[in-house]
Amino acid sequence: MDAQAREQNYYYASTPRPVPHAALAGEQQFDACVIGGGISGLSAALHLAERGMRVALLEAQHLGYGGSGRSGGQSIFGYACEMSTLEKAVGAADARRLWDVATEGLDLQRELIARHAIDCDYTPGHMIVGLKPRHDASLRAELEHLAARYDYHSLRLIGRDELRSIVASERYTSALYDSNGGHLHPYRYTLGLGRAAARAGVTLFENSWVTKLEVAQHAGADNLAHTAAGTVRARHLLIAGGALLGRLVPSLARKLMDIGTYIAATQPLGEERARSLISNNAAAADMNWILDYFRRTSDHRLLFGGRVSYSGIDPFDSGRVLRARMHAVFPQLTEARIEYAWGGYLDITLNRAPHFGRLGPNAYFVQGLSGHGMVIAGMAGRLASEVIGGTAERFDIFARIPHRNFPGGTWFRRPALVLAMLWFRLLDIL
Ligand SMILES: Cc1cc2nc3c(=O)[nH]c(=O)nc-3n(C[C@H](O)[C@H](O)[C@H](O)COP(=O)(O)OP(=O)(O)OC[C@H]3O[C@@H](n4cnc5c(N)ncnc54)[C@H](O)[C@@H]3O)c2cc1C
Repeated sequence: MDAQAREQNYYYASTPRPVPHAALAGEQQFDACVIGGGISGLSAALHLAERGMRVALLEAQHLGYGGSGRSGGQSIFGYACEMSTLEKAVGAADARRLWDVATEGLDLQRELIARHAIDCDYTPGHMIVGLKPRHDASLRAELEHLAARYDYHSLRLIGRDELRSIVASERYTSALYDSNGGHLHPYRYTLGLGRAAARAGVTLFENSWVTKLEVAQHAGADNLAHTAAGTVRARHLLIAGGALLGRLVPSLARKLMDIGTYIAATQPLGEERARSLISNNAAAADMNWILDYFRRTSDHRLLFGGRVSYSGIDPFDSGRVLRARMHAVFPQLTEARIEYAWGGYLDITLNRAPHFGRLGPNAYFVQGLSGHGMVIAGMAGRLASEVIGGTAERFDIFARIPHRNFPGGTWFRRPALVLAMLWFRLLDIL
């Protein structure tokens, strides 16, 4: 990792420098090869090794280079899409199984942290905050729907007056509080999974960018993953490259739009001042399409995220723009310095549902967590290990979700999305 990345990204700066892993060299044989050193890939590698497989994981840069080491760290129930999208896609009974996967993900995250003693500041409590009467009504409807249809009972509605005593902002009108959600330091969580995987016997390769794949087309053959300096040959292959996979597999790239999004961290505010901003120390995300999200850190900063760049480039000074958004929520922070500001890419699908599937009889992919992957990525890895281990049931429910290519082809899809997002921005204002 270069010095500039450590200076910009609060998570990198607040983590002891990890011991690097060697790059792949020469041809090596394993039972399974995982591409991508984020939460999805590391969870898969760990679960596969626990099943007794010899596993190699190839990471283009360093563990946690993608969203897993940059995110808001908010552990949220469900998926990026509405459950109604999944009900339409796979039917009510299987949508229920998908919901159960997501709630198992919340348990899995806590279990992995406890079992592997991962020091990542896990803190319980998450709030979705509404900004207008329309939002208040949909939060109430969501609570009722999730309790009645999905037996999810950890949610509580918080009205405007109580919310004012929790979040020191005039902006919000209600909140849906989830005692089963939470927040954590995502980079330390990711590195903790990396250490657990290594202890379980996984061989981790960093600086090992897979530039070419040879996917076996019959079950008895090996898949090959090539980097500039070597090749992994393995019966089983999992691709978990998220937004950074680029065009390695064009059919997967067509289903994703990579969207830039940004976070900033203030200077340490002191315990009392930080507590005065969010007294219950829950993470919060608002209900706008272009949402703001924020939480406290263990060293008493405010971490504030929001603003997306659908044009794929960052024309703004993201720290300055985020500062303005933060002041709109917390005007009392006008004097607080922004010490870190960084960005990352989300792997968004058109319907915001996860995109899992097969490229060959023993080659699988998990992608498209659409900005909602802190919890689901752990389950993506667990489900990938199940299907590779011979139990396809849960993975195949995801694989049945239909996904369309982004419209507009290579050149016109991004301008088309920019226009679509201008429309959603307008809806936020109304
Ligand atoms: C700024 C930001 C804020 C976010 N906030 C939240 C949040 O608060 N809550 C939430 O639930 N989600 C959030 N997300 C989304 C969440 O971070 C992701 O959904 C999740 O981390 C995805 O994990 P992953 O392992 O699938 O992918 P990643 O973490 O992106 O990991 C993929 C890895 O694959 C590697 N790779 C790609 N191509 C190759 C290749 N060819 N060869 C080798 N390696 C390759 C990449 O370098 C990368 O390290 C946020 C994302 C961002 C960017």
